[in-house]
Amino acid sequence: MLIMKGFLAVLSFAAAVYYSGGFGSAAYKRPPPRETLFRPLLDALEDDDGTSPQQVHISLSGENNMRISWITSDSSPDVVYYGTSPGANTRSANGTIDRYDYLTYVSGEIHNVIIGPLTPDTVYYYRCGWISSTEFNFKTPPSQFPIKFAIIGDLGQTGWTNSTLQHISKSNYDILVLPGDLSYADFIQRLWDTFGRLVQPLASNRPWMVTQGNHEIEEIPILHSESFTSYNARWVMPYKESNSSSNLYYSFEVAGVHVVMLGSYTDFEPGSDQYRWVQADLNMVDRRKTPWLIVVVHAPWYNSNEAHQGESESVDMKKALEDLIYGARVDAVFAGHVHAYERFVRVYKDKADACGPVYITIGDGGNREGLASKYMDPQPKISAFREASFGHGQFEIFNATHGLWTWHRNDDDISVASDQIWLKSLASISACHDITA
Ligand code: FE
Ligand code: MN
Repeated sequence: MLIMKGFLAVLSFAAAVYYSGGFGSAAYKRPPPRETLFRPLLDALEDDDGTSPQQVHISLSGENNMRISWITSDSSPDVVYYGTSPGANTRSANGTIDRYDYLTYVSGEIHNVIIGPLTPDTVYYYRCGWISSTEFNFKTPPSQFPIKFAIIGDLGQTGWTNSTLQHISKSNYDILVLPGDLSYADFIQRLWDTFGRLVQPLASNRPWMVTQGNHEIEEIPILHSESFTSYNARWVMPYKESNSSSNLYYSFEVAGVHVVMLGSYTDFEPGSDQYRWVQADLNMVDRRKTPWLIVVVHAPWYNSNEAHQGESESVDMKKALEDLIYGARVDAVFAGHVHAYERFVRVYKDKADACGPVYITIGDGGNREGLASKYMDPQPKISAFREASFGHGQFEIFNATHGLWTWHRNDDDISVASDQIWLKSLASISACHDITA
């Protein structure tokens, strides 16, 4: 026992030394990873009566509609009852039911119902499956500025994830954007269910718009040759609504912001479906209607962390798409994958460029793999701020010209605003107009 204790002490000392490396705020001692939470799984086994909705989450579906997604272990109706006051479910809508198989695992019934048209900036109350089931509520996003995004990548389901989610839930955000690596189920499908239960309190209450990371691929040669099976079944995004042929890339518009969600792990070369879709989608953007243009992708195109250097999903995708993104005057590109925070100045082709996007890596949600603490030295001039700590981002856009980006570090379990910058939309900078694609 004593030997064990001594061993653990050495281990935690080593971890403390390891995690205190890196740059950013030197005074803060970076914490080790936390364990995956198994409580949601125990809850699931204890209170699952088979037909009660679980893993409820919502997402935008076109301009004034909301998609309601939930799972039941057994068969239950694909209907949502809803209205604008508690208990008054004056409207209802039907949807679709899906299931998927993965090795020996068979998913529950996955329900998807689109409701609307809905009034902007309004609280709706809703019940899934049965008029008698638990009532949830959400607020629709505003139709005009201001609007607030919570942005967090590489979330996982650990004690750190919990801490991050608590901070986000206090931020009064309108929409959550997740640049990939959701559950870290990594082939164990039950962990998709526990993740769904962990995020339900937030994801049933505000739209969660996600794109996928490498942890969503879950392809096994011969045994399960299809990629993204679980992700595509559980996290259906408005791809049809944005004329995309794949759930792996899509766009949405909300309150003067056009958001393009890309897929790092599907074809992106010129001539590919994704490339052609991005080109068409960016061409349709009307900056008078949506002065802000944001791109979200899993693998970062700019990164001065030692983690994930030189990977094709970063290097080749940047090569394929950077000109399109720059030409369209994208304001900001958010990525995950690297488990740390980094913000670049406006760049194009590795050089500071006043008309290029601000690139931000926000892969620090709290997954079980821990932080990416080693940085390239010296810090490149175009890297404005970098730090390996858990945390999340908030992007509050006040009007057509000004937005405030804040990175909140989980200082142990307290949220501390640690990096903050005002951004001006490129649509409002006339010097950047003439080169607009
Ligand atoms: Fe990750
Ligand atoms: Mn990743």
